Amino acid sequence: MQTTNSHTLFNQAKQYIPGGVNSPVRAFRAVGGNPLFIKSAKGAYLYDEDGNSYIELINSWGPMVLGHAHELIENAVKEAVSSSLSFGAPTRKEVEMAELIVSMVPSVEKVRMVNSGTEACMSAIRLARGYTGREKIIKFEGCYHGHGDSFLIAAGSGAITMGVPDSPGVTKGVANDTLTAPYNDLEAVQTLIEANPKNIAAIIIEPVAGNMGLVLPKNGFLEVLRDLCTQHGILLIFDEVMTGFRLAKGGVQERFDIMPDLTTLGKIIGGGMPVGAYGGKKEIMDFVSPAGPVYQAGTLSGNPIAMSAGLAMLRHLNTQPEVYSQLESIGGKLVAGFKENLKKLGLNYTINHIGSMFSIFFTDQEVYDFETAKSSDTVLFGKYFQAMLKRGVYLAPSQYESLFLSTALTDEHIEKIVHANYESLEEILVK
Ligand code: PMP
Repeated sequence: MQTTNSHTLFNQAKQYIPGGVNSPVRAFRAVGGNPLFIKSAKGAYLYDEDGNSYIELINSWGPMVLGHAHELIENAVKEAVSSSLSFGAPTRKEVEMAELIVSMVPSVEKVRMVNSGTEACMSAIRLARGYTGREKIIKFEGCYHGHGDSFLIAAGSGAITMGVPDSPGVTKGVANDTLTAPYNDLEAVQTLIEANPKNIAAIIIEPVAGNMGLVLPKNGFLEVLRDLCTQHGILLIFDEVMTGFRLAKGGVQERFDIMPDLTTLGKIIGGGMPVGAYGGKKEIMDFVSPAGPVYQAGTLSGNPIAMSAGLAMLRHLNTQPEVYSQLESIGGKLVAGFKENLKKLGLNYTINHIGSMFSIFFTDQEVYDFETAKSSDTVLFGKYFQAMLKRGVYLAPSQYESLFLSTALTDEHIEKIVHANYESLEEILVK
């Protein structure tokens, strides 16, 4: 595989951009080698600057649920561009977008658009604090809610991949206001609540966690969390930036029928454009400025191009329920193929899976929280990543990420990926 152009670009990039990338995991630090510079993408494929093609299993970290450059979204963006790029004034599309989100996400009665998942989570936390008059929040170890200061404590995703789950630059004051518990550990949550009576504003959680690899909530975990929040006047925030519109039309809350007070959204909601949103119960959302006192704003928030892309995506998902059965089927077939491979090779690595998200952990332990996720052999993961890449399959370049599937994957692609998985496992173990 010739990757000279990517190497040249990376060397050039390192002179002008910290680490050569605009988001850390992209640098391939955890898996070795140089990152590929991507020139274009279509359907199930990515094309790099050297003309190599790869079957996509990340899909821009989630948004491309219909595959790359889907014509519905492309056309919507092209049409919107002809009416100018941004007005900084209200538009019809924002109303349509808000109405659609409210109709699709069960617990959301009002919603505010922002430009990223980070912004959505930062704003939701501020709102929770403003609404409850309390200061502390609880987050779970290994969950990632963007790079807002409050969340860079025991953070997953790129933060753990780069070895900085607790980032320098976050003040002690902020750190003290972020309490952490292991994922799936109700006792730990209860202890934190008891130790901080009437001072916890919110519990924020990825209801299916994708940022320490994929980790599922145990039976009853989210239900009890919901009850604890109600009992103690704490707002429950579901971060559905990854899972929203992916694991069901209405996200995990619809799939498991558990209603949070606030929800954060991103990725698919923008169809590939930079978009996030937070929403929830009317009485809470009406605390946001200018309806209420909690300030939050954005020059480009709700801009017409992003709204057009997102609307095209969400309208399609809303009217074509077969997308979800397709995603379930693709995920099911791939994971069955991978499990069969492990069996044939006599390996007992752990695969966590739900719908169109899954992760292989290079450990024989059950993975249900950050500690168990960290039992995975990350050196072996790096070798596996490179072996798959060599065979034309593009994975997330870190053990601590989920894979995201798209409806562009055909049975033929699935067969190729499963075959690449077999050969890659064999290569990294035998040699
Ligand atoms: N929350 C979750 C669950 C995420 O996975 C991410 C990003 N991967 C974010 C928040 C932050 O979103 P963004 O990168 O758009 O700021």
